[in-house]
Amino acid sequence: MNAPQPAAAVAPTDAGSIDWARVRADFPLLHRAVHDRPLVYFDNANTSQKPAAVIEAMDGYYRRYNANVSRAVHQLGSEATEAYEDVRRRLARFLNVRADELVLCSGTTFAINLVAYSWALPRLGPGDAILVSRMEHHANIVPWQLVAERTGATVRVAEIRPDGTLDLDALHAAMTPEVKLLAVAHVSNLLGTVNPVRAICREAARRGIVTVVDGSQAVPHRRVDIAALGCDFYAFTGHKMCGPTGTGALWARREHLEAMPPFIGGGEMIREVSFEGTVFNDPPHKFEAGTPNIAGFVGLGAAVDYLAALGMDAVEAREGELLAHLTEALGDIDGLRILGSAPDKAAVVAFLVDGAHAHDLATLLDLEGIAIRSGQHCAHPLLQFYGVAATCRASLAFYNTHDEIDAFAAALRKVRGLLG
Ligand code: PLP
Repeated sequence: MNAPQPAAAVAPTDAGSIDWARVRADFPLLHRAVHDRPLVYFDNANTSQKPAAVIEAMDGYYRRYNANVSRAVHQLGSEATEAYEDVRRRLARFLNVRADELVLCSGTTFAINLVAYSWALPRLGPGDAILVSRMEHHANIVPWQLVAERTGATVRVAEIRPDGTLDLDALHAAMTPEVKLLAVAHVSNLLGTVNPVRAICREAARRGIVTVVDGSQAVPHRRVDIAALGCDFYAFTGHKMCGPTGTGALWARREHLEAMPPFIGGGEMIREVSFEGTVFNDPPHKFEAGTPNIAGFVGLGAAVDYLAALGMDAVEAREGELLAHLTEALGDIDGLRILGSAPDKAAVVAFLVDGAHAHDLATLLDLEGIAIRSGQHCAHPLLQFYGVAATCRASLAFYNTHDEIDAFAAALRKVRGLLG
């Protein structure tokens, strides 16, 4: 019916056994030109490009079995429902969790807000604290500030070191009895730092602190075994992992999902509605009100199959090689400073160039066909730590190439010269 087409037949474990040029050919957009130059897409931490299998899966849904889910008894309705629920099962297998603990939603932002409003809001009060790391994306800061405002709890910051790693001693010291919840990124979207979330969650659990891990930048780039991490909640977004925008999920322990009230009310999330009272559906459906992004999830299912066929260990190894090359190439450019140097780091490089504003650099690079991000990267507190107003960020994916890195370094030298 809707079987997506994985790119590779086997799941190799090392980058060397994969023909990465063939993999790159699976991504139609990467072959376009920008300003008459071959596109170099280094903005993958923002959103990834999509393989043809994802685009075709979504197209196939609209062409062959477009119908709403969980409502109609007709054939199209059951095909759409089966496809949607099958994506939940495939995602669960990919991340080693139970499918009935996976709430499908629009992405990390929604997922974290679900925890904030449904778990934290009814439980926290004056005197309680929420511990948040300095390197969080705003999506893992602002919901906690909103909860704190409404409950009288406080938000406490877990600081980092200049190399962009979490100060674990300070983090453990901050885990006092007032702390009820710890929110931490698995991988930083600006520095690429990979946090030791398993050890952090173990320490938190020993103190009875509930953990929320933001996996947005981890799931697309390494093998994530959520069950092994020992967290309470794990949020991620589909569009950074080769899937469509408006897709993502929250994994939560079943006991939390059962105890939490619904966040958004409406159709799909109920069993029975009357004016005397409404009976909610079981989790995870209790948290999925309204018509979901069905086509998007069909596409996300294809993205999961695609990544699983490549093998996440191979993806990580490939991106590690690209990162080493990129770091070396940037290291040769006068006046360029890289922020953060964590020993365990994903292929994300935040950098500054003396005398050049980040937006000017990114604008001139765009004219060379090179897409990077500039600005604050939804991480104001992290930039405040480094005392800078804005940075450039180059973020890689497995389909990028060594030639692109050389072209990027050459273009950077050129635009740096133009900016004096
Ligand atoms: N958390 C991190 C670490 C991110 O990098 C992002 C996206 O940039 C988000 C959260 C928010 O994801 P979304 O906009 O898909 O909800």
